Amino acid sequence: TPIATARGLVRTYGSGPTAVHALAGVDLDVQRGRLTATMGPSGSGKSTLMHCLAGLDRPTSGTVVVDGEEVSAMSERRLTRLRRDRIGFVFQAFNLVPTLTALENITLPFDIARRPVDREHLDAVVQAVGLSDRLSHKPGELSGGQQQRVACARALVTRPAVVFADEPTGNLDSASAHEVLSFLRRSVDELGQSVVMVTHDPTAASYADRVLFLADGRIVDEISQPTPDTVL
Ligand code: ADP
Ligand code: ADP
Repeated sequence: TPIATARGLVRTYGSGPTAVHALAGVDLDVQRGRLTATMGPSGSGKSTLMHCLAGLDRPTSGTVVVDGEEVSAMSERRLTRLRRDRIGFVFQAFNLVPTLTALENITLPFDIARRPVDREHLDAVVQAVGLSDRLSHKPGELSGGQQQRVACARALVTRPAVVFADEPTGNLDSASAHEVLSFLRRSVDELGQSVVMVTHDPTAASYADRVLFLADGRIVDEISQPTPDTVL
């Protein structure tokens, strides 16, 4: 079964003749244990789709189900809990806590959710992220690629049903982007994590198992097993 589904997803901003149909009817199954990328021109609806799937925004109509729960029908209170307990987020700006070490940033979600640290998974994530000699450094002492890997590790550490990454390599040079993307790839291949990534970089999208192309609020194409050439 898919980890997330959208059916007839519509998100309209405003009303009347000036209404903007950010999503104009999206049907989508996000596969479990896969890296899915969403591409498309600026304004095509990528962020809106991600926000609706992640329970950050409510669709105007249609349904979203994440990990068996209908997100589109949830109360605000349950949505907050779903986002905290079942969804991981990575943003273009790394959003790390500057006063905490890399390791403290990575384990922060356990504190926020008041859950005991899952040692075994933490060790696996720390191993996969490849920062063993940087764990006691603060974000300001790390490169951009290292900071974004810490942010990804933090998003994964509680084994969320799905991790959403919005332009995770948007602020990075290509070498740092590769560090981040190969970590996301390993989290899928070795840890079984489900990841959805929004990007406009074809190289980044080529790390995915499947690439969806949006235009004017609709999915207009998709490819499996992309390469940098087929994504362009
Ligand atoms: P993308 O992420 O692909 O750049 P978005 O999902 O951000 O696209 O935006 C899709 C469309 O919805 C755009 O036309 C955008 O201007 C519009 N839009 C997004 N957010 C809002 C908002 N809060 N109010 C009004 N229009 C919005
Ligand atoms: P590392 O530098 O961490 O050893 P690898 O080069 O082994 O990373 O790549 C990690 C994962 O990313 C592998 O699954 C690999 O197939 C994939 N990968 C590496 N480079 C690309 C690329 N340019 N496009 C798509 N996938 C890539």
